[in-house]
Amino acid sequence: MHEGFIRYIEDDIAQHGFKLKEYNSMIKLGRSKVNGYLDDTKKELAFARIDDVESWLSVLVHEYSHFRQHTNGKFNNGNNYFDIVDQWINKKKEYSDKTLDRAFRFVRNCELDCERGALKIIDEFGLSIDKKLYIQKAAAYVYLYFYARKHRRWHGKRAHYRYKTIYSLMPTTLRGRFNTIPDEIMEIFEKKLGVE
Ligand SMILES: [Zn+2]
Repeated sequence: MHEGFIRYIEDDIAQHGFKLKEYNSMIKLGRSKVNGYLDDTKKELAFARIDDVESWLSVLVHEYSHFRQHTNGKFNNGNNYFDIVDQWINKKKEYSDKTLDRAFRFVRNCELDCERGALKIIDEFGLSIDKKLYIQKAAAYVYLYFYARKHRRWHGKRAHYRYKTIYSLMPTTLRGRFNTIPDEIMEIFEKKLGVE
């Protein structure tokens, strides 16, 4: 049934000139390695079919949700903001606090909207993904941007935010606004991921 979902995506994105790219290892993207991406310039949706089914299926759903945002004209012109966040965290460029705050807010809202869309896709296709866990991982991912803004670091090479000790403490709904981070959640990140 997952093959059917994959073919559906392939056909759907093809109507907008996008290609689906499947990898069997982590994908090199610049200096980092990722599990998937949507590139609206190259018109590619990529995912790495690694680890267990639920993991790569979750990545595919996430990227496909970004595709739907793209076709709905949501969060367009955001590439610059994604680049700003990326370049700043990797200490390649400096920006004013005002620019950083704006960029982080944009990226955070885009990812939150993407995750909410992903939940709809999971329901729509009846995918075998544990929604409660998906939501907690998604919440951790969105909150991670607050940690990254404060400490100028990401979760490191391994996706630490996926660790059960972190995401089991996250909210089990994405209905909140996520425009601030509760102190206790920041403390969890600081304790588990470290500070500089
Ligand atoms: Zn995303």
